[in-house]
Amino acid sequence: MLCIADNLQTVHSRIQAAEQLAGRPTGQVNLLAVSKTQPAAQIRAAFEAGQLAFGENYVQEGVEKAIELRDLNLQWHFIGPLQSNKTRLVAQHFSWIHSIDRLKIAQRLAEQRDIYLPPLQICLQINVSGEESKSGIHPDELPELAQAVAALPRLNLRGLMCIPEPTEELAILRSRFALLRELKDSLNTRYNMALDTLSMGMSHDIETAILEGSTCVRVGTAIFGQR
Ligand SMILES: *Cc1c(COP(=O)(O)O)cnc(C)c1O
Repeated sequence: MLCIADNLQTVHSRIQAAEQLAGRPTGQVNLLAVSKTQPAAQIRAAFEAGQLAFGENYVQEGVEKAIELRDLNLQWHFIGPLQSNKTRLVAQHFSWIHSIDRLKIAQRLAEQRDIYLPPLQICLQINVSGEESKSGIHPDELPELAQAVAALPRLNLRGLMCIPEPTEELAILRSRFALLRELKDSLNTRYNMALDTLSMGMSHDIETAILEGSTCVRVGTAIFGQR
């Protein structure tokens, strides 16, 4: 348990060092603790070390933990692929979803989000590497999807998310993150949006993502250990 607190401290130090290196004000990058496959006790340990926001990839697993830990008032983010028959559970139990890549899913979430809950916070997932099999939309499809999602009730379009292809080449990785930043900036300037979120960076590439403007790093292994 002590280990999780130490790991969180290390991740916070990495984030702060990267913010400084990037010449950014410190304390602006949010840390999302990715708790997929981790038991509720590990999440509770992270909470006791000060962590409030958690990311889950699988609907059923995430909902079970959200219910079990409801006394903690945690903030739950859905970050995995979402099928249309599971949207209602996400609309009921999560605050954010980072992985929207189809209008139909967003429409269902808008219909199913309870009007007494705050709007569901949305990021659109972009395929920044051009890989055939990857989730996420092609950048060319972004303006149309973003405008359609922004028009839906009970959703709040906040930004973009990506998972670049694994690569040892720092320059390639940077260019993927830079593309996501440019896409967000262009929606704001050309389509008069107010997106403020870039969900990018995981355990191994926090620093590169922050250099390119990440506002939310999604970190699993570096906090909880190998899955
Ligand atoms: C698992 C996962 C992460 C965390 O990855 P780590 O390498 O363990 O930090 C981040 N984002 C998504 C979408 C994931 O599925």
